[in-house]
Amino acid sequence: METSFIIAKFGGTSVADYPSMVNSANIVIANSNVKVVVLSASAGVTNLLVALAEGRDADVRSQHIAKIQSIQYNILEQLPENPELRNEIDKIIANIASLSEAASLATSPALTDELVSHGEMMSSKLFVEILKEKQKNATWFDVRKVLRTDNKFGKATPKIEDIKQLCCAHLKSLNNQGIIVTQGFIGSENSGKTTTLGRGGSDYTAALLGEALNATQIDIWTDVSGIYTNDPRITPAAKRIDEISFAEATEMATFGAKVLHPATLVPAVRSNIPVFVGSSKAPQEGGTIVYNTNSITSKLPTFRALALRRKQTLLTLTSLNMLHAQGFLANVFKILAEHNISVDLVTTSEVSIALTIDTTGTNTNGSSLLTKELFNELSKVCNVTVEEDLALIAIIGNNLTSTKGIPKEVFGVLDDFIIRLCCYGASTHNICLLAKSNDAESIIKILHKTIFEQ
Ligand code: ADP
Ligand code: ASP
Ligand code: MG
Repeated sequence: METSFIIAKFGGTSVADYPSMVNSANIVIANSNVKVVVLSASAGVTNLLVALAEGRDADVRSQHIAKIQSIQYNILEQLPENPELRNEIDKIIANIASLSEAASLATSPALTDELVSHGEMMSSKLFVEILKEKQKNATWFDVRKVLRTDNKFGKATPKIEDIKQLCCAHLKSLNNQGIIVTQGFIGSENSGKTTTLGRGGSDYTAALLGEALNATQIDIWTDVSGIYTNDPRITPAAKRIDEISFAEATEMATFGAKVLHPATLVPAVRSNIPVFVGSSKAPQEGGTIVYNTNSITSKLPTFRALALRRKQTLLTLTSLNMLHAQGFLANVFKILAEHNISVDLVTTSEVSIALTIDTTGTNTNGSSLLTKELFNELSKVCNVTVEEDLALIAIIGNNLTSTKGIPKEVFGVLDDFIIRLCCYGASTHNICLLAKSNDAESIIKILHKTIFEQ
């Protein structure tokens, strides 16, 4: 029989303070199949580090550093006196201070990644001690030894084969060293410089390591008891989904359900590893299991969930040359690709293309994607208009393109709103609407009521 091997990831709120870390440690201890633990930085720390990396004056720097120190000291001071650990945390904080000073003189994406990596370093060092305090054998591991990426600082791409080989070389030998505690979100490029996978990237780390180590399950512990029919912060009536297919959950993550980083399910789908999502504060409530459609025991519903992605920009590209011409689309997409722009929604007419671009800046350094150079190049082949302050609402489900009455059910309740663009038909799993940012939550609430609360 195959032995179970779980990799468990705990997000920022699950390691925010001493009581949260204890809850998370109890979850790890309660299941002897949990062999590797991936941690985020304590809640709030990454935001402070990102702000420091943007370059702040001395006063603001010391305020931010004091806040970081207080978050970590509050945990440290509840542990039995441990001069070695205190010394390590102090060294990391001193390092943050000197890198922040450097960033105030000249910042760079590489420096940003180096600086923000310190959050995960501290939370993982503290967590090891919490496990040890509970008499659990645990080993701290620097994930940068195995999580190899390219050098796109701020949103690096993992190198899957390298990660597999490095995991074999460095992690498998630690088999008898108790629970391995490591960092999410960070990695390293070929020359050893620290990189990051983009904000919220720890989920992705857990999936990448799970795949490389042949885990039988990836557990994502967060502050909600699973994946809901919508973000429960927006729709308190949202219901927990007990089991969901990879295809549906991937659509949700892609279209903004923050509970999973958009790339998390890619390794899980590729290697067919089930993913569990639950709350570290209430593990007894159970959670959501995401797996292959064949494993789903209940009927796949027509409507599964709603997701919202803010900060969308719509580009409308118009060219009379497009009339009866070939190659215009290819031209435009070539330019977009050369500028590393990934397009979400596309609609076309005879002489124009409308497309949306996500500007939420999931990369760590938050740099703008829409550069002057991009506009210059596009302007050579077409007229460009830009509309901002839009939001993408995704309706996720099954057989949406082969079920009668779907458009009426969706649009029938949206009389009071302007729907700027709609994508329907490319996927059987989603309908995407683009609306004004200010209308987005109202639209979500009405759709949720109609679809899920009747
Ligand atoms: P973590 O720090 O643990 O990674 P996140 O804040 O990144 O946690 O993700 C959890 C949050 O995701 C929840 O608090 C919830 O507000 C949000 N969320 C968005 N969409 C959904 C959804 N469909 N189901 C559950 N949570 C969702
Ligand atoms: N600490 C990182 C962030 O806040 C990564 C993560 O939590 O997943 O974005
Ligand atoms: Mg997250």
